[in-house]
Amino acid sequence: MENILSLSNITKNYGKIRALDGVSFEVPGGSVFGILGPNGSGKTTLLSIILNVLSADTGNYLWFGKPGSPEQRKKIGSLLETPNFYHYLSAVSNLKITNSISGRGDLKGIDDVLEKVKLFERRNSRFSSYSLGMKQRLAIAAALLGDPQVLFFDEPTNGLDPVGIAEIRELIIELSKKGHTIIMASHLLDEVEKVCTHVAILKKGTLLTTGNVNDVLVDDDLVEISAANIDALLTAINNYGNGIKINRDGNLLQLTLPKGTAQLDDINNYCFSHGIVLNHLLFKKKRLEAKFFELTNN
Ligand code: ATP
Repeated sequence: MENILSLSNITKNYGKIRALDGVSFEVPGGSVFGILGPNGSGKTTLLSIILNVLSADTGNYLWFGKPGSPEQRKKIGSLLETPNFYHYLSAVSNLKITNSISGRGDLKGIDDVLEKVKLFERRNSRFSSYSLGMKQRLAIAAALLGDPQVLFFDEPTNGLDPVGIAEIRELIIELSKKGHTIIMASHLLDEVEKVCTHVAILKKGTLLTTGNVNDVLVDDDLVEISAANIDALLTAINNYGNGIKINRDGNLLQLTLPKGTAQLDDINNYCFSHGIVLNHLLFKKKRLEAKFFELTNN
């Protein structure tokens, strides 16, 4: 699918602090795209730049293949600019006010967005009577006014209880099914795994990796092996057992094993006992885990 957003070499300094360092990635249309990283990794800075609230020192980005413009900005709804709702007013009255400030939607649009976030039944209740999760859903409703193609969320489940968290995650998935592309910042690996189709992982302003969640956050153990005689290796490893799946990629064999079961020394021994000396043995999943360890321990 066509890319909605392309970032190229974005760098941003705050005085001596380098908040972003040459960040480049692509957001495919229709994706739920997670920007994952611990506190201080540059997520909010990045979202602010692509929403044109901050300017980058170097690099550029394209929305729908073109440089940012007010026209394109209308296709983008954001929870960064969360409206201050009036506590004594209902959801409908609050959205009317938001609407008249932003000029994004019409009155029918208000009913539609309240339906989408499942607050229609409670549309006439005061904001002050809402749970935190409902308040967050109303903020999402405000971002949905004018039916923007792209939605931005910064830490959408922060501060919510488990029920509120589950509701918001489910809502994000539903909005994606309805055709919105969603870009969200999160410091929770688990949240990104549950909600996102694609991810970019940031650490201290640097992009560690990006791509499809299933490729980046592999669940199984992945081991690459190779030997001079690849055909003999393939024949031998076919009988290794342990729920192994084998994929040949040129002179490499990619072995997929159930999570946590790959033993490199065992594989090496097994091959050697079948007369094959490996010239390549690499545990890929472990490297990713190491990346996440670095991420979550800073
Ligand atoms: P958090 O989840 O805590 O908001 P984040 O991943 O969104 O973190 P940013 O808020 O983008 O990260 O911050 C990236 C780095 O830039 C941090 O080191 C932060 O202290 C610094 N920073 C952010 N805003 C400013 C500012 N206005 N002036 C100086 N430094 C800043």
